[in-house]
Amino acid sequence: MIAGAVNTFPRLKTANLGFPRIGRQRELKFALEGFWSGKQIESELLETAATLRAEHWRLQQAIGLDFIPSNDFTLYDQVLDMLVLLGATPARFGSGSVTLERYFAMARNNKEQTAMEMTKWFDTNYHYLVPEWSASLPFSVDLTKIFNEITEARVLGIETRPVLIGPLTLLLLGKGADGFDPFTLAEKLIAAYKTVLAALAEQKVEWVQIDEPILATDLPDSAAGFFRKAYADLTQSPVKLMLTTYFDRVGDNLPLAVESNTAGIHIDLVRAPEQLQDVLPALAPRQVLSLGCVEGRNVWLTDFAIAKSFIAEAVSRLGPERVILAPSCSLLHVPHDLRSETNLPARVKGWLRFAEEKLAEVIALANSDEAAAIANAIAIADREAAESSTDREVRQQLGALSESDFARISPYSQRTLAQRAELQLPLFPTTTIGSFPQTAEVRRRRAAHKHGRETTESYEAFLREAIESCIRQQEEIGLDVLVHGEFERNDMVEYFAEYLEGFLFTENGWVQSYGSRCVKPPIIFGDVSRLRPMTVKWTDYARSLTSRPMKGMLTGPITMLQWSFVRNDIPRQQTAWQIALALRSEVKDLESAGIGIIQVDEPALREGLPLRNSDREQYLDWAVKAFRLATSAVSDRTQIHTHMCYCEFEDVLPSIAALDADVISMESARSRMELLQAFRAHSYPSEIGPGVYDIHSPRVPSAEEMRELLGLAIDVFKPEQIWVNPDCGLKTRAWPETILALKNMCQAAASARSAMPR
Ligand code: GLN
Ligand code: ZN
Repeated sequence: MIAGAVNTFPRLKTANLGFPRIGRQRELKFALEGFWSGKQIESELLETAATLRAEHWRLQQAIGLDFIPSNDFTLYDQVLDMLVLLGATPARFGSGSVTLERYFAMARNNKEQTAMEMTKWFDTNYHYLVPEWSASLPFSVDLTKIFNEITEARVLGIETRPVLIGPLTLLLLGKGADGFDPFTLAEKLIAAYKTVLAALAEQKVEWVQIDEPILATDLPDSAAGFFRKAYADLTQSPVKLMLTTYFDRVGDNLPLAVESNTAGIHIDLVRAPEQLQDVLPALAPRQVLSLGCVEGRNVWLTDFAIAKSFIAEAVSRLGPERVILAPSCSLLHVPHDLRSETNLPARVKGWLRFAEEKLAEVIALANSDEAAAIANAIAIADREAAESSTDREVRQQLGALSESDFARISPYSQRTLAQRAELQLPLFPTTTIGSFPQTAEVRRRRAAHKHGRETTESYEAFLREAIESCIRQQEEIGLDVLVHGEFERNDMVEYFAEYLEGFLFTENGWVQSYGSRCVKPPIIFGDVSRLRPMTVKWTDYARSLTSRPMKGMLTGPITMLQWSFVRNDIPRQQTAWQIALALRSEVKDLESAGIGIIQVDEPALREGLPLRNSDREQYLDWAVKAFRLATSAVSDRTQIHTHMCYCEFEDVLPSIAALDADVISMESARSRMELLQAFRAHSYPSEIGPGVYDIHSPRVPSAEEMRELLGLAIDVFKPEQIWVNPDCGLKTRAWPETILALKNMCQAAASARSAMPR
């Protein structure tokens, strides 16, 4: 047998950084929801959780991993678990050891209390609970969970590497209340971590994985000092620490990471392959390097040729005993396994790898498995050669684009004259964000139709009725710009993806979003193009029922991209522009059908921001262009709206203005118009509807309350710039509260109108 230069080393050690916990059939989700609704008792929930953990450990053992994680499991969120471990849960939920009841009270809103705030885990779609830092936190360590997991695994004969979130990441992901500086907690926090490590050492734990993904971001000034101090202390412990970074390059934090002198460092070579060159020479003499060479965040197979070149380089520099292979990050962000997918086209399935298959790839690479390498090369070549990957027409269209394809005919100042003449709207026009209540009946009928239990004819008749009644409601409420209600949509991405070439859907490809909530992102596997009109039929039908202006509703290119698994064989920018081209056709068709107002939702625009500041400009540039490509083919008379929500937009306002939409609606009621502060600094050129009504709860805001918020907007914008609308779509609300709230909203607008000098 001829051994190539790259596979002359002995078998390398392998690790996993975290396994999906929701269960192959979402067992954890159903157990949690059963428990919350009172259908299951505590012991049943805990039993399901223990069974899942045992299954997952056995599975990882059978795959053949050397380092199998524990404490990566959680009943709700791993950040909350860290706070429980360290004794740093917010005092407003009570004190003493954390019962299950209190644990869920912190995680979920209930009648008495608002839960802890939730926000996105770096640039993923996973949401964590935000630590609330304050001087009074007791930091009394509670080892119950972490010990239980270590012991449970040992009973199965499996020695695990427990996972902790590191002190710097934890600190910076939290918020100090009322200007409290979290770094003043340094001593106490470090002491708590030391206690945990001491206890683990006593349990004869050899390695701990300590996650510091924050090292892949630009750190604030006080971070470096804290980090040095923390790790100078923590590395005193006999427990070996695998300092784990992921999601981007360590970059200028490399000296910090290396000088911490942890026993090992893990780096993400999928997101940041070039960093290997910097990390290899920088390592301390005995430091082990864990190579994140199998993508933990996307569903594609690894290109073994690329991975092997990294491995060869690391091995030749460090020797095989100092190299470990692993996925790039926790597999929390990918579905469980491919076996449960029976409907995927076989060819594309050959290019996909979910959590279990990714771990098998790690093993194959560590073993220099020749057969696996050949199969891999064949699959990679097959993917490259596949016709579905390249649609000549789309590529040609993209190649032929010129500046003018990204620009409206006239500037806003001119367009607005045409639009005002056309639409004849009052001052402070009222509208909604698109969806109206998705009642049980709506969901039932959609499911019945999808599963063939209801004919298309009867389902469509039902949709027409729902649209008509929604329009009569809106007229009766007194809204100025109407919508059709979005009753036909299961999800704002999946609905559109079903009309697009290049997208695929899984049956069980669930990924945890937060707690028991999972999403099933579509997979973009090839060039994207529009198969047929997507919304024209329903929007046009709605338009035919009323004399008031009808607004068409589309999901924007960046949101489609962000909430899908994206192909990794062409730049994201290209896929975004392909989706934009498909939407551009839809926008034109809507316009031709007589729809004078078209809204393109981009709630995920900010989510796509790279973690490093220096990479942001480039992203924003192509993301803004994607939106403009989708929306600029219309006449001046046609009014383009966009909508954003779920995050802070302050730092991307110039890009939002650069979208060149005629009107933007933004979530702002929930934070009582905090958003407006940012607009004082940037004069906003076009029209804006800062939300005056928080749609996240059934509470009906009064007209006075909304009038007051509107007053705040009037202080910042010119009256003719302002629209009046809720924070977001109303699909999660019920009809009675929706009608009352919108009536109050229209009343608030009327009151603001009559207060204007004539
Ligand atoms: N048009 C969508 C709706 O109203 C917008 C949803 C969103 O912003 N997430 O439901
Ligand atoms: Zn929204």
